[in-house]
Amino acid sequence: MNWLRRSQHQAKRLGLGALLTISLNLALTTEVQAAAHAHNRQGRYKQLLAKIDCPSQYEKPGDEYLVFGFSEDPGGRYCNQKVPKSGYWVYVYPHWYIWGKEDFSAVGMAMLKKQVKLRQRTITIELAYYKPHRRWAELRLDQAAETLQDLERFTGKPFPGQNPYRIEENPDLPKENLLGQASHRDMELAPPGISSAWTLTHEGVHIWNHRTEAAWICEGLADTIGWLLMYENEFAFSKQETLNDYLANWRTVMESDEDAPLDRYYDDLPQGKAMQFWLMLYELYGPDLLSEVLIASTENTEFNADDFRELLSHYAGSKTHRLMSGWVVRGPYYVRQARDFGPIHYPLPDKIEL
Ligand SMILES: [Zn+2]
Repeated sequence: MNWLRRSQHQAKRLGLGALLTISLNLALTTEVQAAAHAHNRQGRYKQLLAKIDCPSQYEKPGDEYLVFGFSEDPGGRYCNQKVPKSGYWVYVYPHWYIWGKEDFSAVGMAMLKKQVKLRQRTITIELAYYKPHRRWAELRLDQAAETLQDLERFTGKPFPGQNPYRIEENPDLPKENLLGQASHRDMELAPPGISSAWTLTHEGVHIWNHRTEAAWICEGLADTIGWLLMYENEFAFSKQETLNDYLANWRTVMESDEDAPLDRYYDDLPQGKAMQFWLMLYELYGPDLLSEVLIASTENTEFNADDFRELLSHYAGSKTHRLMSGWVVRGPYYVRQARDFGPIHYPLPDKIEL
């Protein structure tokens, strides 16, 4: 059974045709504190190509030390200065250091690579890991390859990421409950035993939707689609990752004074609320709805609750408010689980019940 195999009919498209543009997004990786040899990441970068003055990079606390990693910019200017066309960028206030080479072995790391055949091109996935974790790295690399192929099929949209695509073990994670992070540029995972295969599939979804502003859509879909991909590919969950455990915190909050609508209050709520909402819609309408929302919210990064209501009406007719009330917008819960609304057409894997 393929949980994310899209059904045969072509889903209606909403005409949000803007292509996802891949631009140099300064979604910088912040590290806590600039230590000695921070400018070359403790010897990881070599061959200094340029050091440019750029005090304006500092916008808020935490910006005193930033690691941007590899960047290619044929324009070759930044902070009103000429910069190399490509290199590894590190910011130690008030300078950017741009390096020509990366030497993993200097910091006890190594790299595995894998060619992955995607729809329109073959790309290379690189996985940088700490040397004792080689088996973990091999497993995650294979899983990453399958995840990208699945997500292309699921969305019908070509992989929007950089080639080569870099995945890196980051021992500074978890940070603020973050086990991983990803954009079209690269992905970071917390070390083995902390991040899991589900972290990887979750972050895989973010390669497509990391610019989606509404967190209940961006994060909720990453959780839900990532979770369904785990079953689709028979990836192993870690022991503590049961759906019930994941939803438990949220269920103690549901309908209490602390409950709030997902729209605008996602960050104040246990994460499970968004996931339960999307799983409920999956049970009713299957992968097509999830795929349509993922694509629409990727193409229009400001996709909001009203846009969602419009899209949902193609499936639920005039009953969108019944489904969204309590969950996405303020109001009583008319539907606490899919069965309250109608028959379940897409049962969850392994007979899991919400
Ligand atoms: Zn996420």
